Amino acid sequence: MVLSTHTRPDGDAIGSQLAFGNFLEAKGLQVLMLNSDPMPYNLEWLPGSEIIEVYDGSLSQVEALATADAVIVLDTNAVSRLGHVGEPIRRSKKVKVLIDHHTDPENWFDLIHRRESASSTGELLMELMEQWDAEAISSECALALYVAILTDTGSFKYSNVTPTLHRQVARLVEIAQLDPADVYAQVYDKKSIEGLRLLTNALSTVQVHHNGLVGSMIVSKRSLKNSGASVEETDGIVNHLLSIEGVRVALLFTETERGTKISFRSKGDYHVHKWAQSFGGGGHRNASGAFVRADLESVVRDAVKSASKFIETNSDELDGEISAEDADYLSMLGVQK
Ligand code: 5GP
Ligand code: MN
Repeated sequence: MVLSTHTRPDGDAIGSQLAFGNFLEAKGLQVLMLNSDPMPYNLEWLPGSEIIEVYDGSLSQVEALATADAVIVLDTNAVSRLGHVGEPIRRSKKVKVLIDHHTDPENWFDLIHRRESASSTGELLMELMEQWDAEAISSECALALYVAILTDTGSFKYSNVTPTLHRQVARLVEIAQLDPADVYAQVYDKKSIEGLRLLTNALSTVQVHHNGLVGSMIVSKRSLKNSGASVEETDGIVNHLLSIEGVRVALLFTETERGTKISFRSKGDYHVHKWAQSFGGGGHRNASGAFVRADLESVVRDAVKSASKFIETNSDELDGEISAEDADYLSMLGVQK
């Protein structure tokens, strides 16, 4: 079995991969874990993380892909999100399995297990494993699942967290004999001073638009460089916008050498996935992303302007026009209105 997940893997991606890999091995199957990108630094402590390989197209990896019984894709449903291992997986003649909770899966999978309302791929996997053989869920597997669910639910605070999920998580805590405070610290309390400087810079760019419903922030190339932080440390910054009273939709614009990344986050019925799709990206209803090959200013302008087209709301909170405040903001960025 080959298990793979998305580029810039997060806790749900890595946690799901390690958990399912561990489980399949316990069931006597051979497993190879193959990703395009390396492990994020805050998850390296997870047991088994060292056996995840970064795909480099080597003969042994190509052979393993060719001879595996099945290729299992976790926590993403698009070939482009798999990075450079994507095409080799899509072209594989083996059974291609998708286990995922994102919207709009591509049509090249042979078997699909998905539920958009699931909090995480980890939640779906736990259901599968409990039905298959609950006894085969080891403490390492349970810890990895816990991290998957912890990270994809914003530490159990998103609206897709249900009583059933809490009961599942309680079982994981028991199986892994884990200390929630310790796991939280291992995952989140790893920021560098540079990362906090980057956050300070980003917070100083906070703006609200459309009568306070939409919040935005910017991480420019310059602020990333000046802070000395790594690009990984932009993760989570966008969520600060949702702590502003009244803000339901958050946008983080990250300037890179090749273009501008937009992170979309939202609360409740303010769905952002179609909005992200309009910029060539995708994701979930309340958390999406897109990468646009255009400069920061034009992407900020296009995104802020198009808010009213994509946020489904029954109210007239979104007027579709750029307010005087937004106009000032854009001119501060040097944008033509
Ligand atoms: P983030 O803002 O954390 O990078 O991404 C949030 C979510 O949006 C991810 O979990 C992923 O589902 C989705 N996403 C991010 N970037 C892209 C992209 O470029 N294309 C697609 N299809 N989805 C993305
Ligand atoms: Mn996920």
